[in-house]
Amino acid sequence: MMTKSSAVIDMNPLLALEELDLKRKNVRDQLRGIPTRRDQIQAEIAKFDRSLKEKEQATATKEKNLSAAELDLKSSQTQEGEKKLKLNSVKTQKEYDALKIEIDTLIDGRGKLEETILLLMDEIAELKTLLKKEKAAGEIRKKEFQEQIAALDASQKKLDAESQTLDGESQAKVEELSADVRREYAKLRANFPEGKILSKLSADEDNAFICSACNSPVSHQVVIDIKRGTALYHCEYCRRLLMS
Ligand SMILES: [Zn+2]
Repeated sequence: MMTKSSAVIDMNPLLALEELDLKRKNVRDQLRGIPTRRDQIQAEIAKFDRSLKEKEQATATKEKNLSAAELDLKSSQTQEGEKKLKLNSVKTQKEYDALKIEIDTLIDGRGKLEETILLLMDEIAELKTLLKKEKAAGEIRKKEFQEQIAALDASQKKLDAESQTLDGESQAKVEELSADVRREYAKLRANFPEGKILSKLSADEDNAFICSACNSPVSHQVVIDIKRGTALYHCEYCRRLLMS
């Protein structure tokens, strides 16, 4: 397909426009990636907060268990004291033996309680040390995350402005095109919403001319016309505009 023209067609504005469009696409791609990156960082922060909270809850549970064990210990000691007092006032050997057994059971039980208390105290101390370390390291990481988010916000602002400027430049360049070329540009952009719309002629191994975008052959006559620069030709296969 070709568009005849008596004057030599200047391809430079189209080339410049294509380059501008590629820049615009690049800026748009960068902008598109920003929300995902921001979400990822925020998810990292939330994950860290959750892990810290879980450890705090585990510590609180163990502290509660410790208080309960300490209370049990105290109550066992009180009961032992009371039973020992009772020993003085029992009247039969049978009563005395029964009380003795109760007291021994209390003392046995206390051994286990004391073990539990010591174990819990160790575990709590360990958890608290870990928490302290994680909190300190976490504060630093969180600060880094927040800085990353601030940097993303800043680059989004910058890219938005850049995108607007490029859109304006592109619009201005389109308006500078001659009516024919502008129609061509609109058609090409309809076929290729993004990416290259122009394709340079190149030569294959046998020195035959091909479209450099899709490697399809281009006839000799078309090459002559293109080199003269008086007509616009599309590649028959990929539909890009051919240029020398
Ligand atoms: Zn082609």
